[in-house]
Amino acid sequence: MVNIYYDKDANLDALKGKRIVIFGYGSQGHAHALNLKDSGFDVTVSLRAGSKSAAKVKEAGLKVSENNAEAAKEADIAMVLIPDELQKDLYDNELKDNLPQGCALLFGHGFNIHFNRIEPRDDMDVFMIAPKGPGHLVRSQYKDGKGVPCLFAIHQDKSGNAKDLALAYASAIGGGRTAIIETTFKDETETDLFGEQAVLCGGATALIRAGFETLTEAGYPAELAYFECLHELKLIVDLVYEAGISNMRYSISNTAEYGDVTRGPVVIDASVKERMKKILTDIQEGSFAKEFVSECDAGSPNFNRLREEGKNHPIEAVGEKLRALMPWLRGGVQGKDTA
Ligand code: NDP
Ligand code: MG
Repeated sequence: MVNIYYDKDANLDALKGKRIVIFGYGSQGHAHALNLKDSGFDVTVSLRAGSKSAAKVKEAGLKVSENNAEAAKEADIAMVLIPDELQKDLYDNELKDNLPQGCALLFGHGFNIHFNRIEPRDDMDVFMIAPKGPGHLVRSQYKDGKGVPCLFAIHQDKSGNAKDLALAYASAIGGGRTAIIETTFKDETETDLFGEQAVLCGGATALIRAGFETLTEAGYPAELAYFECLHELKLIVDLVYEAGISNMRYSISNTAEYGDVTRGPVVIDASVKERMKKILTDIQEGSFAKEFVSECDAGSPNFNRLREEGKNHPIEAVGEKLRALMPWLRGGVQGKDTA
């Protein structure tokens, strides 16, 4: 059982008059900053000196600083929304000695606190507001009067007020229109990493590519393979998302449904689940986190090689060609870099 809160449970007065500093203006940063501003709060975005994003922040009508240490000194609420692998340096070198006594330090994901990479000063509130969706949706849903559900977790409650602040912040970015769910840094971090590795990003892309390769290697046209294994996945996922697996099965043909229930478990069999368990164990024991951090510290050679390999997969070329025929699809990823 989890505790779930909504806008009616949040009192935005908790944030009134507080100076909010958002570090980073990427996927999550732009969404939090703009939603908070539109909710009536005092927001400054802090970036590295010379950041390419500074002009965009100004254009959006937000205050911008290009000096993290100076911005930190002014923060009542400091939200860290830069890439996870860079957060320790930011905290150790620019935040630790500059954040005011008694302020609140916020994160959008539990990675650095849970894996003890950041050890926050004990005079501060420390909590997490983690939207369960990419930043561009956090922004676009807010503008549409909807909201992406948020998890929140409290690591330190020095003021005794951390929960009120967390609910107000989550509500101000739109989370309370759907749900604000209470959790812990441990549960958020471990389930988030597992989901993105095994199912959402890693599992789904590997499944798509394996299907595409199976068809093209058997001599079928790449265009057909693309539509079958990638394009149509969205239509099915939309049905699952809106109404659940059983209702999706109601919408598809009996032929498709019989193939689904008999062949699905052949593809994703017990051995897949065994490997999922191994992936979860690596996350729980911290070995994934250790590997990711040392890879980044080494300049990401393996990460960059795998990225390049992915870009060169044949599904990318055919996809680009076919998507050009469907101009109504939104081109490119709107989450990173977009305001
Ligand atoms: P991004 O990769 O989109 O963040 C990039 C931004 O950080 C850029 O504006 C960049 O500046 C800025 N930046 C990098 N280094 C610094 C620095 N030292 N000082 C100030 N700004 C800096 O990050 P995400 O939004 O993807 O992730 C942020 C956090 O949110 C992470 O903890 C992540 O796990 C979490 N999260 C992310 C989700 C997502 O949708 N992506 C979903 C839920 C949680 P510049 O423009 O100059 O390069
Ligand atoms: Mg994540």
